[in-house]
Amino acid sequence: MSEQFIYTKYRTVCYNCGVDADQVIKVVSQKGEVICANCGATRVFVPRVEGYDVPEGTHTHIGRYDVWKLKTDAICKKCGVHGVHDLVVGANHLSTRCHNCGYAHFYKFDLEYIGQCPISTNVG
Ligand SMILES: [Zn+2]
Ligand SMILES: [Zn+2]
Repeated sequence: MSEQFIYTKYRTVCYNCGVDADQVIKVVSQKGEVICANCGATRVFVPRVEGYDVPEGTHTHIGRYDVWKLKTDAICKKCGVHGVHDLVVGANHLSTRCHNCGYAHFYKFDLEYIGQCPISTNVG
């Protein structure tokens, strides 16, 4: 079974296609992904550290990406509470932090690719 940690959306202008579209944010222990619902541009983040003493990451604007500071509900794998988590998505990092116990995950930007539209049946 697949772990479900954070699954949320943030509507903003996509850095790739320039369209105001939902950016789908999926985070599990092993991986974080941000996917444009319009063009399929995907950013993949890999886990770097987790714990109570984790940097929130840089909040400075780098390059073409804005830093998104969101709040979302998730189940904390540490304290087990289903509650508010901070979710920060930046150019080079993605981080989450449980409001209840402060346990945080920090992911580092790994790679970027343009995915195929999953709805398309025009394959092959
Ligand atoms: Zn896009
Ligand atoms: Zn917690």
